[in-house]
Order: sequence, then C-alpha cells, then structure tokens
Amino acid sequence: MRRLLHLLCLLLCCAPFVLDLSGCQAPPEAKAKEPCTVSQDSCGPPEACDLPPASLLDAGSIAVGAARDDAAIDGATIPSAEAGATPGGESIVSKPTTVSITFDDTFIDQMKVKDALRAAGLRATFYVNSARIGEDTYMTEAMLHALEADGHEIAGHTVNHPNLPTVDPDEQRRQICNDRFTLLRMGFRVTSLAYPHGAYSPVTQEIAAACGYNSARSVGSLGCDGCPGGESMAPRDPFAIRTPVSIKCNTTLDAMKNQVLAAERGSGGWVPIVLHHVCNRCGRNSVPPATLIEFFGWLAARAARGTVVRTVHEIIGGDVKPGVPGPPAPLREVQRGNILRNPGFEEDADGDGTPDCWLKGGDGANTFTFGRVPDAHTGSFAERLEVTAFTSGARRILTRQDLGFCAPLAQAGHRYALAAWYKSTTAPRFSVYYREPSGFWKYWTQSRLLPVCGAWCEARWTIPEALPADADSISVSLTLDSVGAITMDDFTLVDTSE
Ligand SMILES: [Zn+2]
Repeated sequence: MRRLLHLLCLLLCCAPFVLDLSGCQAPPEAKAKEPCTVSQDSCGPPEACDLPPASLLDAGSIAVGAARDDAAIDGATIPSAEAGATPGGESIVSKPTTVSITFDDTFIDQMKVKDALRAAGLRATFYVNSARIGEDTYMTEAMLHALEADGHEIAGHTVNHPNLPTVDPDEQRRQICNDRFTLLRMGFRVTSLAYPHGAYSPVTQEIAAACGYNSARSVGSLGCDGCPGGESMAPRDPFAIRTPVSIKCNTTLDAMKNQVLAAERGSGGWVPIVLHHVCNRCGRNSVPPATLIEFFGWLAARAARGTVVRTVHEIIGGDVKPGVPGPPAPLREVQRGNILRNPGFEEDADGDGTPDCWLKGGDGANTFTFGRVPDAHTGSFAERLEVTAFTSGARRILTRQDLGFCAPLAQAGHRYALAAWYKSTTAPRFSVYYREPSGFWKYWTQSRLLPVCGAWCEARWTIPEALPADADSISVSLTLDSVGAITMDDFTLVDTSE
C-alpha cells in the first residue's frame, strides 16, 4: 500500500522529476566535436537558461516545468521566517531539519564553490561517475582527493551514467559495482550512491545493496503537492532517498531556501539538495556560483536555529563495505561478421519505442522527432529521424554506449568498416565513438556527408583510422545536422582486420 501511495505521488506530482528528464530528449552520449557549451546532462540548449523577467520571478515562478509542484512551497505563499519571529513577536517554531548538499555528475565547475563551502563550514556529498574522472570538463582524481581532504564525501553515480532501469541487470551491476570498485581503489570511502536521472527499479535497488552501498538517492518526491517537505531521518527506504526537485538554472535563491523552509515548517527531517552544474546559465541544471554561495551563507547561519548540514554518509552511517566488481561483459561468440546487436531495429523487448541497444541522441538548438516505423528495408521496422528546425548541434540514432551488454568488443589497432541502408531528404553522415578502458565514451570521427537518397541506398564507410590503442569498443550512428528526414535500417559493423 505504501509503495502504491508512493507510486501515486510520483505519478501525480513528481513524475517529471523522478527521472529528472524534464526537457531531455536524449540520454547521455559522447559528444561529437562541435563546440560543447551544454553538458550532456543539461538536457537543454543554453537559451533554456535565460531567466524570465523579474516580475515573473517575483510572482513565484520557479524552475522550468516545476511551477505546479513548487507552488505549495512558493516564497510568496509562505510567511517569511527570516526574522525568526512574526510581526507580533511570537517565535516561529522550526522542526529539526538536516540538509545535505549533493552534487552530481563530476562536473569540474563544482570546484568553483570548494573555498566557499570551507568558508561556510559546510561539508557536501559529491556523486561521481568514475569513467568521467580526468576527462575534459570533469574533475580529476586529485580534485576529488582535495575535496575529501576538506571533509566532503565522495560517492558513486555509476560508471557512465545510464538510465539504469532500461538496461539489463548485469549491465546495471557493471555500472554500479565497477564505479564503486574503482572509487574504492582510488582510496575513497564510498558508501552512498545516486541513481543517474534519479531512475531505479526494485532490481536496481537490490543491485545497489549487493555492490556494497549503504544508501541510494533518487530525485523528487519532496516538497511537491501531497509530498512531505523532508525525508525521514531514518529514510523510509534508504535505497530510494527522496529529495526536492533538482536545482535548475532559473531556480531562484528564494526557491532554494524554500526547499529547506518547507521541511522546517512541516514535520522537519532531511532535505538533500540536488545540484549539477555550478556556472552562469551554462545548462538547464546549473546554478550561478554567486547564488549558491549566498545560499551556503544563509544555510550556515541557520545552524543557530537548529537546521544543520551533514553529508549523506553522516546521516546514513554504516561501515565502508568491501568492493564487489560487477560481472564481466559478455564475450560475444560472433566477433566475425556483423558485431552489432539488433542491427535492423527489429527488437524492442521493453516496448518503449526505442529499439534495444540503440539510443536517440544529439544536442544543440533544433527541433526533431524520432520514430520506429514499419517502412523497413528488411524485416518489420526501421528508425526514422526528422529535424524540422535547425540552428546548431546535431541529432542522431546511435548504438547504445554501455559497458558490454550492447556495445561490441573491439580491438585496438584493428580497422572497422561501417555500412547502413537509408533514404533521406537531406545529407546524413556517419559519426563514430569509442570506449576507453575506464568506461568513458569518446567522440572518434565522422564521415563526409553522404548523398541525399530518395529510395533505399546503402552507404559504406571504412573508418579511416585504426581503433586507438586505449579503446575497446565502438558505437556507431547516422547523424543529421540540417533540416530534413532520414529513415535508416540494417547497420553493419565489421572488423576488417580479422
Ligand atoms: Zn547525474
């Protein structure tokens, strides 16, 4: 019954935030080489971060898409507690409240507030994707050690940020266990996990516990209509820790304070604040450093009123359990011939409309639709992508970038040939990516533009370079970076060195 109520709450009031996919059209993917001003987790072009006029903010507008959920804790509808007393002099009683400051995704811009955290005497929890450590725009191992030396908690966020319930259990084990295993090997005391996109299933929760975690944080289910302001201090489910909505680029300072005040004025409890980028309007999930630093000062001062800040580990407690590596990637019998899984889009086991082992990807300012269509070259299905307006970026359909359930094993130094059938009203191109041993997916290279093709055409391209020395898998795609439509089918990726 409790689970049912919880589910109902998610569906009715927090659904867009449980997965934190509001505005996201595509899961993360390695970037093509176009200049990257928006992170893969930002889920929106920079213009999504232009703040509405001040008059709208004054009226209590919060984050994009969050107005309804946050209305109940809107600054305009709650009497100010800043003074600690009502005009009549009567003290406002705050319920005991504990706040955790949590940062996701390993972004290097989070280092901008390291000194401010120390100055305010606050310790935070940093949820880290091990494959990203040391990569461009992400924190280095030395930075993470410096954070830990300041008393912050280094926690896990999977190897490379998949939407966990959408991948098979063994891939979930690799993603959750290997991330923790790597972080432990680096010397971090890793006891806390955050699910990428806040997304989990009962299977994910079991795997998180089996990998040695003591807790796992979701996103959402606090502060919305019918939801409490704070999580219980002994969480209702330590593998589904609830939070207010993620801080977004147009979340005001008052709205951030209200995430805390909603608990203080309700039944108290635990408020894990969810942060991503720390920068001025660099993505939808960003907060300006100045705003965050002001929030830290306000929060630190609330210790006098009994509201304290603790890391997630400090609240959950428990030992640092031994690391457990995930299962090895399946060794494919067929490493000759076509090494792609589901190359003709025929399988969609979970019926979600995205063929198994494929991703709908891309970034930038453009309007687009994806669809699985019966207009196939062979079999019953093909994939169609249409870009109806284009300013920047690209859209693509690409093979899933994971740790081995979908991604084929490939050999450094070997050469690979790629082919696909397509028909299009504009010129597409092949883009390819490779995986490093850490699990990080990197843009590799792309073909020249392929011809516009009215009937079914086969494009063949031998990737001009051998697979780099540090690579062990390949992801392939057909990409549009102009207005038009493409229907694609029957991909082939062959190791030509075999
Ligand atoms: Zn994340």
